[in-house]
This record gives sequence, structure tokens and C-alpha cells, in this order.
Amino acid sequence: MCGIVGFTGNRQAAPVLLDGLSKLEYRGYDSAGIAVRDGESKTEIIKEKGKLKVLAEMTDYGKAVKGTCGIGHTRWATHGEPSAVNAHPHSSDDGNVIAVHNGIIENFQEQREKLIKKGYVFHSQTDTEVAVKMIDYYYKKYSQQPIEAIARAMVRIRGSYALCVMFKDFPGEIYCARKDSPMIIGIADGESYVASDVPAILKYTRNVYYIGNMEIAKLEKGNVTFYNIDSEVLEKQLTEIKWDAESAEKGGYEHFMLKEIHEQPKVIRDTINSVVTDGKVHFDSVNLTDEEMQQIGLIYIVACGSAYHVGMDLQYVIESLTSLQVRVELASEFRYRKMTLNKKSLVIVISQSGETADTLAALREAKEQGIKTLGIVNVVGSSIAREADNVFYTLAGPEISVATTKAYSTQLVAGYLLALQFAKARGEIEETKYNELLEAIYSIPDKVERILEDKERLQWFSAKLINVGDAFFIGRGIDYAIGMEGSLKLKEISYIHSEAYAAGELKHGPISLIENGTIVISIVTQNGLIEKTVSNMVEVKSRGAKVMAVTETGNYFLEDTAEFVCYVPRIEPLFAGSLSVIPLQLLSYYVSIGKGFDVDKPRNLAKSVTVE
Ligand code: GLU
Repeated sequence: MCGIVGFTGNRQAAPVLLDGLSKLEYRGYDSAGIAVRDGESKTEIIKEKGKLKVLAEMTDYGKAVKGTCGIGHTRWATHGEPSAVNAHPHSSDDGNVIAVHNGIIENFQEQREKLIKKGYVFHSQTDTEVAVKMIDYYYKKYSQQPIEAIARAMVRIRGSYALCVMFKDFPGEIYCARKDSPMIIGIADGESYVASDVPAILKYTRNVYYIGNMEIAKLEKGNVTFYNIDSEVLEKQLTEIKWDAESAEKGGYEHFMLKEIHEQPKVIRDTINSVVTDGKVHFDSVNLTDEEMQQIGLIYIVACGSAYHVGMDLQYVIESLTSLQVRVELASEFRYRKMTLNKKSLVIVISQSGETADTLAALREAKEQGIKTLGIVNVVGSSIAREADNVFYTLAGPEISVATTKAYSTQLVAGYLLALQFAKARGEIEETKYNELLEAIYSIPDKVERILEDKERLQWFSAKLINVGDAFFIGRGIDYAIGMEGSLKLKEISYIHSEAYAAGELKHGPISLIENGTIVISIVTQNGLIEKTVSNMVEVKSRGAKVMAVTETGNYFLEDTAEFVCYVPRIEPLFAGSLSVIPLQLLSYYVSIGKGFDVDKPRNLAKSVTVE
């Protein structure tokens, strides 16, 4: 789930490992460790609970650990408390096998018992130590070949893993294996890198290989060989990562989240331009033909967290532009529900990382049932990108802050373009309307820019939220979908209890929670629904709530009801979500920093949830 970095080359490994791990800190972790091998003889393992800084200080920023081959890890505990003993790397007792692992070994208990019977002793509570000792066992029992030993362990392990292993008899080499946990391999002149995510190695190389599911790789200095589970050599193509190293740095902003909020105009524009040329949407890169779009009758949008909220918004957009039915599903529920999917459907999965475990499982379930799939994904070469039949890449660049902003916005705009193209391919939209809507989509980046210019007003208002215990977001239609995202943003980084309700639902229960001083944030952009939502605002205000509204320029009458009104530029209502979400992102950001929290790394959360 967390960070892995490995290096073999001609320079000292420890500083490279510490630097790489620091680029993965944003993913959240509770302990860190490195193992560095000095030639034939010695391997040193240093690990500790807490921040990477602790490890850096223990090793004099890597300078005190000698050796040119090593592996490093930031752990987000799943099995066993965060502690130095449970931190990775783990080792067999004789130091024959040393490894780091991301993911979960589901059958670790059963395998652990078997190994205990064979005389193995366990020191940690982790599932990882079991994997290490399994590999050691098969290595010693059979041919003493790393690839074979790992492959034998892989067929017996259930669960997910990205594993990096060093063997005592093979100095200067790192062996990697993966199943359902992300990992990439980078190559430079005389140097090889492995990492669980691109930013860790971007400074050193942009040339990467993607290691597939159930594959093994052997890293030597500047060279890598891939194997399948039968130990047969695989040919792979090198891919060049287009992200530049600066895009994974803070670039003068105090926090990644603020930087990423400000990058939104650019990345939305990039995403639009990736499929629009000469005033028309072209889906060649997405690989979805007009004929295919005509045949589909139902769309399932399956996702988790903010990506699910994108789906909620898109449901309104797609259903109002086309005759398609849309069902939005939480991936963690969808994958376990026994249901026969409609044969004429398309399953759209949305995931920034392309590695979200539940979303990936939902995609596989859809494919198993023979249903066409489309991934809206940000990370090139990620598991979802590789496994989905069609891919629409959002061009958000690396998103470091745990709370998503720019990836969310690009997913939303990708969805609008998809909706528009569906309408066109199915002959359900007139040329003039199509052009008008495309024009509106084009206007989004500039309008987002304008909202960002006015951010100080929100900063001022955010002070009022710092001491509140509860907040409610209300809205109707698309405004409700945006409220859901605003509410998640607030709770995840400011730890304020917050809930989103369809405004019409208030009377069915939640209104009983409203008391003096309760904060209610109302999103009011949808023509035809404004009066209804205003009535709900009045209802909560008369029960003591402090009401804030996000609405379009011109709706000044809202100031009669709301204590604070934030205006966003006018736009075609179907696309209003792209604008009204921006003040909500900023609000959460300011509340979080106002409360003194680590806004980029909220407690208990990880950037991409690669375990269930
Ligand atoms: N399951 C392993 C552990 O608890 C690895 C967790 C991780 O991915 O960081 O140690």
C-alpha cells in the first residue's frame, strides 16, 4: 500500500533510497526502513517507527550506510502495529533473503504455521515476514535460484504484493515480483531503479518498464530481465514518462494541495485538448468507436471516494444529454454484489492511480462477464489502464496531496467530453447544441482561474469553521453531487464531521441535527431547482444554522438567506460542478491549515488505496 524504492548501480544506494522514499511520503506511512548491501559481505538493515526524518538522522542522511545496492520502504501497517520490529525490510534469520513488501498476504496465517513446523521462527506480526521466509524455504529446498524460489512462493501466496528481494548469494541484484500492487522499474546508464510510484525515481530516470501481474524481474546495474511465473524470459518495451520532475515538487507553494488546486486550469485544458481538435471531440486515443457508442444502452460508473462523486455528477450529465441509463456504483460494493450485468452495457471505472484495489476488482468482474470496459485513469501504464478495453487518460500530472483536487477536476471534464461524444455518436444532439456545449467546456479553465483569483474571501470565511464540530452540505441534482465532494474534502483534511444530503432529504431526518450554529453549506447552481434549495436554506436558518452558499454570479438574492455567499462565473448548468467545487476545495484547505493540520498527509489516509 505504501512506498517501495530499490536501487542498484555504481553510486551509494542509501541517499538514493532516502530521497526516493521522501517523494512517496505523501502516500502516508507509519514507519520506514532501508537495507543496503555492501559488496559480497555485509548487508545493513536500519528501520524505525515514525517519519523518514528519523531514519535519515539515524543514518546521517544515508552517508553512514555503505553500499551500492539496496531496498527501502515506507510502511502503512496492515498486519501488526507500527513499530521498529514490524517495519520493513524483513529478513530470514541467516540474512539469506531480505525483502520489502507492499500489499497484503491474505493466507499468511496458514503459511506461517506451516513454516513454524519447518523450524522457522517469527519476530514480527507482519504478513511480510511470512513471504520472506517462504521464499527462503523454497530457495533452500530447490535449486537455490532466486527466480524459481520467488515463483514457487507466488503460486502459494494469496493476496496482493509488490515485493523487492535481495539474496545473500547474489550481490548487486534485486528481484521484484508483483500482483495487484503497483510497481515500476526504471533504467539509466549503469543504474537500475524500482519504485511503487513514479515520483520516487523521476529525478533519476524517465525510462521505465511496467512489470505485469504475476511477473518477476531481475535488476542488475543498468539492466533488467523479466520472467513469467514459469521462469520464462519475457520481452518488454521501454516507456518514457512524460511528467517532468518539477511537477512532483511544491514549486513555491506552501503545500501540494494548494499547488494542485492552482494547477487545475492548466490540467483541465490539457485534458480537453488531448481529445478535441478542430472543434470536435476525437476518441481515437480512447479507442471507442461511434458504432460501439450506439449499441450501448446502459452505463455503470464504478469508483471509490472522490472518483465516485465524479460518477454521481456525470450521471446527471450523461442522462440529460443522451437516452442512456446510468448507474453509479461504489466499487467496494459492486464487486461483491452478485448481479448479472446488462450485456449491452459499458462499465466505466474511474481511478486517479489506476491501482485502486476495489475498482480494479470491479473492472475484472465486468470483464469476466464479457462487458466492455473503459477506464478514466491518470497514471499511464497502471493496472486499470492496462486491463481496461478502452482508456481515457486524464492529464492531471502527478497528484501528490492525498486529498484529490486536480485529478477530480480532470476526471469530471473527461466525463463531460464522453457524454458529449455519446450524444453525438447516437444522433441525440443537434450540431448547434453540440458546438455550444463544447464551447462551454472550453470556457471552464478560464473560469476556474477567475475563482482562484478571489480565494482570499474564502480564507476569511474559513476562519468561522475552525471550531465547528459538524457541517452539512446540501444541494439538488448536480449540486448534490458537488456537495458530496465538498463534504468529503472537508472531513478528510480538517477532521470536521461533515455530511452531504440531497436538499430534499433534509426533512426526512437530518434536519433534527440542526441547532444553533450548525454550519450548512448550500450549493445552488441548477436552474429550476434554485427556489427549492433556497426554501431548504430558510428551513435550516430558522432553526439556528449558519448558512453559506456557493452560487453563480447574479444570484444576489441568496444574500438574504446566507451569511456568506461565494459566487462562481456563470456556465451551462450541466458543467457547473467544475466551478462550484473549486471554492469547496479552497475552503477545506484553509480550514485544515487554520487548524494546524498536515493538509497534504491527513491522518489514517493513503493516497491510492491498493488494498481492500
Ligand atoms: N502488509 C504489510 C505490513 O503490514 C505491508 C504494508 C504496506 O503495504 O506498507 O507490514
